Amino acid sequence: MLLLWACSRPLPTVAPTTGGEGLGTVYMAVTGRGQSPGRVSYPRGGKELVDFVGYSFVLDHPQHGRVVVDPGYPSVAQDPHTYPGEFISDATGLREVTPLVDQLDGAVQHVLATHGHADHIGGLADFPNATLHIVEQEWLFALKESGLNAVVPWPYEDHAAKDFVRFDAGSYGPFPAHHDLFGDGSVVMLPTHGHTPGHTSVLINAQNGSWLVVGDAAWHERHWAEPVPKGTMTRLVLEDDPKAAELALLRIHAWAEADPGLNVMAGHEASLEQRYPLLPEPLAR
Ligand SMILES: [Zn+2]
Repeated sequence: MLLLWACSRPLPTVAPTTGGEGLGTVYMAVTGRGQSPGRVSYPRGGKELVDFVGYSFVLDHPQHGRVVVDPGYPSVAQDPHTYPGEFISDATGLREVTPLVDQLDGAVQHVLATHGHADHIGGLADFPNATLHIVEQEWLFALKESGLNAVVPWPYEDHAAKDFVRFDAGSYGPFPAHHDLFGDGSVVMLPTHGHTPGHTSVLINAQNGSWLVVGDAAWHERHWAEPVPKGTMTRLVLEDDPKAAELALLRIHAWAEADPGLNVMAGHEASLEQRYPLLPEPLAR
């Protein structure tokens, strides 16, 4: 179905990725682990369990300090008496929480969240002095408590320092617009709405390669590589706009096809932690 739909529309133009000169060391951390039935992940999935792993990305920018992309669950999520961990775990497939703040030393100046689900933005609560960079529509979504949508705003809802991002620059790779966070090409925010209303992917351009953090635009590698959408019920119940979610997948797929050197980091792909080094080892420099 997805491929038929793809064939009926022209694919976007793809531009090559360029390595950033301004970025320092990049790290990847595991912030959660769990499993969900295959039918949650794939249209033809069954009862077999699929591994889910949650990831955070940490960049030490020479001029702008420490930047976190998707801080994961907040540290309060470790206590099921104070946090709806069981229900949220069922909704997202994550049961084991490893707060990012416990894995870091040193202040975080900037937080980016691909989207407002608790397993991605929740950890913002552990970095109260950081500036959150987010699309305003997604912030409003992240304030509306919803078990079904895995939104738990109370740990971070009073967060003061916010920068509402606009995709204020032209096309970038297969995407129609982008936002260059620091103006040096090192951190590029890209619109991938569909899973949620203002879902954003983040391209990290390090000197030795580029990493595209796609959040839950793709949970698993198969989602963007084939491409194939999430399970039928998942799309109906969890996704804000399934058609827009398909377009985001097609764009990621087209980019990866055109640029084999691009590291596409699906939001919960279990194999990433075997294929890439984890904090404290650097992912990129
Ligand atoms: Zn997620």
